[in-house]
Amino acid sequence: MTSTLKRVNDLDCRDPLAAFKARFALPKGVLYLDGNSLGAQPLVARDALDATRDQWRDELIKGWNQGWFDAPERLGDLLAPLVGAGAGEVIVTDNITLNIFKLLGYITESQGRSRSVILSEGGNFPTDGYIAQGLCRFAGFEHRVLPEGAVLADHLSDDVAAVVLSQVNYRTGRLRDMSETTALVHAQGAEVVWDLAHSAGALPVNLHDCGARYAVGCTYKYLNGGPGAPAFLYVHKDYQDKGWQPLSGWHGHATPFAFNCDYAPASGITRFRTGTHSALIYAPLEATLRLWQEVDMVALREKSLALSELFRDCLADLLKSEGIEDITLPQAERGSQVAFTHRKHGYAIVQALIERGVIGDYREPGLMRFGFTPLYLSYEDVWQAAQHFREVIENREYLEARFQTRSEVT
Ligand SMILES: *Cc1c(COP(=O)(O)O)cnc(C)c1O
Repeated sequence: MTSTLKRVNDLDCRDPLAAFKARFALPKGVLYLDGNSLGAQPLVARDALDATRDQWRDELIKGWNQGWFDAPERLGDLLAPLVGAGAGEVIVTDNITLNIFKLLGYITESQGRSRSVILSEGGNFPTDGYIAQGLCRFAGFEHRVLPEGAVLADHLSDDVAAVVLSQVNYRTGRLRDMSETTALVHAQGAEVVWDLAHSAGALPVNLHDCGARYAVGCTYKYLNGGPGAPAFLYVHKDYQDKGWQPLSGWHGHATPFAFNCDYAPASGITRFRTGTHSALIYAPLEATLRLWQEVDMVALREKSLALSELFRDCLADLLKSEGIEDITLPQAERGSQVAFTHRKHGYAIVQALIERGVIGDYREPGLMRFGFTPLYLSYEDVWQAAQHFREVIENREYLEARFQTRSEVT
């Protein structure tokens, strides 16, 4: 281990993002390395939640005309620059699962159902594959899986309509080259739905520059929108008015308050709305997205890589001696997480760390996952977390019986 506390404190003094930490409400004694599952609470989000609670009490139904109804579009425009999209190309709505369903249905319809295969990737977050399977069953298409690690080009036959891919893999943190992959898929006449769950708010994302036409992502992970905060959906301007999306609900109608009996899609990104959303969760997310406007994403990426390198560096000697494998990829090929594996004790090690206030998470099989969120983690936090990890291992704390039983959410 080459990092001393003094060196680590020097890094904090020179950190251009250091001031953001004070803008989050973090519980005392917690070192939070799980912002890739649920982001921490920004102070502005708390205030916005309180204000909306009062707005509901005082304004009642009038609230819908005071910013509640058009929140999906307004927040979409706030989010767009964080993923390299333009105004009117992003909508904040529903969750990723529903948004993938809508996009796959929309894409296949806009192709005139001329292609019948939907490809999802093995090793991706399962909902992406489940929803592709579900849509295929329902619509009579064929679902195929791109095995993890396989060459995509070998699986792009000319009957493939669309591929669902994550920009950053949730388990391994592998970062795909979005530009190159998008060009490859488009050259075969197919479309890609990019899942940005582990890249939006974690690193600079440039949908337009990469030629992307369709994408979805989370706001409750790196973007800190709050538990159950709605997802986002992106469609490039030139691909927005090509057909219906399959969840043709009233909020996506051209004239929702005309209460016509026939559906007519709204023009632009609004057609990807479905039905009534929760004004209560949009309010804190909006305040959080305003905070994000101040963040320099290049500085964020630099700090994210520096934090994760620090963590690995502090533990390298220990991992080797204990048979724990560090499967973290090289910097250019990863998102904002570190992944260690230990098949036998991975789960228990994570539980022992959580008891010490170091919150990471566990994913089958044997994977210990630590997310690095530069807005509210200091270098010293990461250094401290590594010291706890060392003690858990050296003292064999993870062998204690209470760390062996599984909870419902891991
Ligand atoms: C977290 C995550 C999701 C979550 O989907 P929801 O429908 O929002 O629950 C989907 N895809 C990926 C890749 C994820 O990491």
